[in-house]
Amino acid sequence: MEDEEFLGCISCMGSNDLYDLFAVYEENAETYASLLETCFSIKVPNNLRHICADCADQLDKAAAFKDQTESSMAMLQNVKQTFAAEELHTRAKLLVTPSV
Ligand SMILES: [Zn+2]
Repeated sequence: MEDEEFLGCISCMGSNDLYDLFAVYEENAETYASLLETCFSIKVPNNLRHICADCADQLDKAAAFKDQTESSMAMLQNVKQTFAAEELHTRAKLLVTPSV
């Protein structure tokens, strides 16, 4: 086995509070490696194993942002289709009650 394995965060190269990219930390959660791939199309080679707490936090936020955007867009597409089928007063009602 190679002893020269890089022991640091793959993103900032720091070495504080490292997490394993391929470990599952919460039940049903994705690994950080798979989040990197689904969010950013970054494929992590398995000789790189760590991400630090700060970067993991940013990655979690990015993943949540992606999920939120995708589900909002899906909802908006739905609403749009509903508009097409319904009367316009429904639309006026939705426009005055933004959810943010
Ligand atoms: Zn980092």
